[in-house]
Amino acid sequence: MARREAPLQAQRRRTADRISKKWKIARQNKSPRGLDNQGNNCYRHGALQPLLHLPRFVNWILKHKKNGHWPCHAADPNKSLPEDELTQAEIQDTTKHTKIELYTGCVPCILKAFMKAYWGKGDTDVQPPYLPLVLPHHHDSVLPLHQLAERWFCRESQDLDIPKGSSRAERSRLTRDSKRAEMTAQQDADEFQRQIFGGIQSSYDHGTAPGQARHAEYDSLFTLTLGEVIECSQCGNRVPQSNRNDIGLSLIPRDSTQVPNASDTIIRAIRRALTDTVVGMCDPCGQNTTRNIRLSILAAPEYLRLTLNLYLPQKNTNPISIPDILDITPHMAPPAGGHPHDPVRYKLVSATYHMGTTNKSGHYTANVTGPRVPPFQPQQPQFFCDDARITRNRPTVPPTNVVTNNPYRRNSSRYDPVILYYERLPHVLPPLNRKTADQVCVEEVDEIRKNYGIG
Ligand SMILES: [Zn+2]
Ligand SMILES: [Zn+2]
Repeated sequence: MARREAPLQAQRRRTADRISKKWKIARQNKSPRGLDNQGNNCYRHGALQPLLHLPRFVNWILKHKKNGHWPCHAADPNKSLPEDELTQAEIQDTTKHTKIELYTGCVPCILKAFMKAYWGKGDTDVQPPYLPLVLPHHHDSVLPLHQLAERWFCRESQDLDIPKGSSRAERSRLTRDSKRAEMTAQQDADEFQRQIFGGIQSSYDHGTAPGQARHAEYDSLFTLTLGEVIECSQCGNRVPQSNRNDIGLSLIPRDSTQVPNASDTIIRAIRRALTDTVVGMCDPCGQNTTRNIRLSILAAPEYLRLTLNLYLPQKNTNPISIPDILDITPHMAPPAGGHPHDPVRYKLVSATYHMGTTNKSGHYTANVTGPRVPPFQPQQPQFFCDDARITRNRPTVPPTNVVTNNPYRRNSSRYDPVILYYERLPHVLPPLNRKTADQVCVEEVDEIRKNYGIG
């Protein structure tokens, strides 16, 4: 039977395909740029470097405010200070040294300025190979992002313990001290990135047609939509639930503290994430019984973001096996008429890493895949990004995609991947004579097919 693409999936893919996949880098040297760490900023850098290497995402953000289709949103919560009085007071106090405006802003505006500086011609070495210079923390294009991050994390620590019987003034003081400490403390890279995605989603007015179009574009790039059915294990009655939307999938690798050396793979973890059981009452058979939750993918994004939850709460150091090519076709909800679904496959491009014992301590880094230099080299170069230091990976032994390494080791340090970024492989191959970014995709796919024996 012929393969088909489910309608929602086709719609989402076509929306993403309308955003250019071409790397538009003004400078001669296309390497990543180092980011200066002035404190506990590595969690931001480890989350940002992979985002800067998703070309469709970068090109989409660059369209913000370019014409009338995506203006800033007046009601964007990031554009005004939080309503909570103590948070406001704390931020006002901190701003004795800087401008209050830096604690408010539109995330796409801030990201756009940052991306332009990051990939721009300015601040590059005058000697060959014209390496891009490190972006200082206080650079005009970087500081607003850091200040906004401080504002996001201006909140009470979960460990805040206010002694019983404290006076109101004492309670306020302890709360404010805690908020101040959190602003510049080490935080979770995954949470920071979710704040960025939240800021993008609050930058358009969902009540307008252009706002809905931007929302559809956001979904096409990052949102995984799951359909959910709860099935009774006794009578087989199936109850459809409302759809779930999230940035990719959150996975729990098998815990080494429970089962030592238990082997696990991303494919298996995805399968586990899409099946679950609950105990509950089934109306048709009237029994309090086990009910199976079955999730299937109704629509998959251009960039599939997989979070690996390693903190349970002790860190799970059991390395899950990470594939270079990820095929999620078996999890796609079948199109009408019982046709099998068209292949939905991804290639691993980047990872955010963590070194340390808890997600709010230790050190965050990233590995990214850059554009081919010159464009028709067989391999896309991969770089390790450790704050200001950028190092090109030069594997001498397979695997050639170093992002599949788990753990990733460098200079006797061990880095555990915590977020993986997969890029969807082209759905239908464009005509071979097209001299566009798609040409690169064609060659990429041919190469992948050759290397992995995919038909
Ligand atoms: Zn804006
Ligand atoms: Zn039943």
